[in-house]
Amino acid sequence: MSIIVQKFGGTSVADTEKIKHVADVVMHERNLGNDVVVVVSAMGHTTDHLVKLAKEISDTPPSRELDMLLSTGEGISIALLAMALQTAGCNAVSMNAMQVGIITENIHNKARIVDIKTDKLKKHLKEGKVVVVAGFQGVTEDGEITTLGRGGSDTSAVALAAALEAERCDIYTDVEGVYTTDPRIVPNASRLEEVSYEEMLELARVGANVLHPRAVETAKQFKVPLRVRSSFKLENKGTLIVGVDDMELHKPVTGVAADLTQLRIVVCDVPDTPGHAAKIFTKLSEANISVDMIIQSYARKIENTNDIAFTIDKGDLDKTLKTLDELKSEIKASRFQVDDNIAKVSIVGAGMIDRPGIAASMFETLAKLGINIKMISTSEIKVSCLVDENDAKRALVALHETYGLGCDEVAEVKGTLPEEELN
Ligand code: ADP
Ligand code: ASP
Ligand code: MG
Repeated sequence: MSIIVQKFGGTSVADTEKIKHVADVVMHERNLGNDVVVVVSAMGHTTDHLVKLAKEISDTPPSRELDMLLSTGEGISIALLAMALQTAGCNAVSMNAMQVGIITENIHNKARIVDIKTDKLKKHLKEGKVVVVAGFQGVTEDGEITTLGRGGSDTSAVALAAALEAERCDIYTDVEGVYTTDPRIVPNASRLEEVSYEEMLELARVGANVLHPRAVETAKQFKVPLRVRSSFKLENKGTLIVGVDDMELHKPVTGVAADLTQLRIVVCDVPDTPGHAAKIFTKLSEANISVDMIIQSYARKIENTNDIAFTIDKGDLDKTLKTLDELKSEIKASRFQVDDNIAKVSIVGAGMIDRPGIAASMFETLAKLGINIKMISTSEIKVSCLVDENDAKRALVALHETYGLGCDEVAEVKGTLPEEELN
């Protein structure tokens, strides 16, 4: 028998009626003769609600206790789905990360999975049960509860599929697949039949939160066939994530995305001598702070000094300022400037390789709108521009248009835009 891993996101298990519907979908796969492992997220906006509760207690909740709190959301969904399956006559068992043995690094709030024990899972499957596993959570070797970062249930599902050598991992969500951009922002976004692991990874990293970046990384590494499809329109086949060699590239750009989760820090007036960048970024990495875009400008406000600007996740601001303060006299910086009204807009496409002028056409599109570019970064298949947060939506819509990504239909969306996202 083949093993299929199915993952259902928060909207798909938002209430008990939807959970009963998920049970039907699971049983349909089971009736096709497959062994099924199901990964579920917390119901609806449960995780957001739990974060809000924590913030009511403290602006900076202790990371260990935050994981204890957030991991409870998925615990509710697994029990309810296993109940729904059993009530419908399907043999099923729920398991949390500790019971399975989803082992992560000893880091809270964004831990990476390092190992998954499969013995108990396989035993249950052998006994004919559907196994319902809690997404998003893990456990360290010492038995500490961790979480994988927001949206991390996708990664739980793909990692389980890799560990079990599953035939396929299906990510069921509230849209019909991966689109050329977020259909909540650009309603005529087109669904992609296929997208390569490489492009999907870039898209996920630059803000297309339909898939968690580490889920795509893991799928690529272990060659897990991955499909994104709708929980509600089962007749539609969604989007297949495939190797780039299997694709024909018609357009230079496959998708566009905006990311509002970062802020920019400028370390001002650092002496223009070797070693300062090394000191700053070594200390930041030791504090487990991920830095994205970096630019060093020759400011000349003070002779022979530079400004070093970089972007980080908004959630890492306090940790970053504390780290920089400890370094301030050593690196002789005059001050640190924080700019949190920024957005990163990006274009992604394997088709831009060897096609000159794609970055130029992006800058031209932004220039025509009078949008100022604060930072630029590129990879082989991506160009990102940092712009003012208030310009992000206009930029995204215009870039989608520039690269001819729209279609005549309007995508059906179930989810709503959270306040902190682009609107
Ligand atoms: P789930 O709860 O199922 O994990 P998410 O909210 O994490 O769902 O991801 C699905 C949402 O991702 C969609 O509702 C959609 O608005 C948003 N999204 C952002 N970018 C894209 C994209 N390029 N293609 C499809 N959906 C996208
Ligand atoms: N429940 C977690 C979140 O909302 C994980 C997930 O849904 O993937 O981020
Ligand atoms: Mg998600």
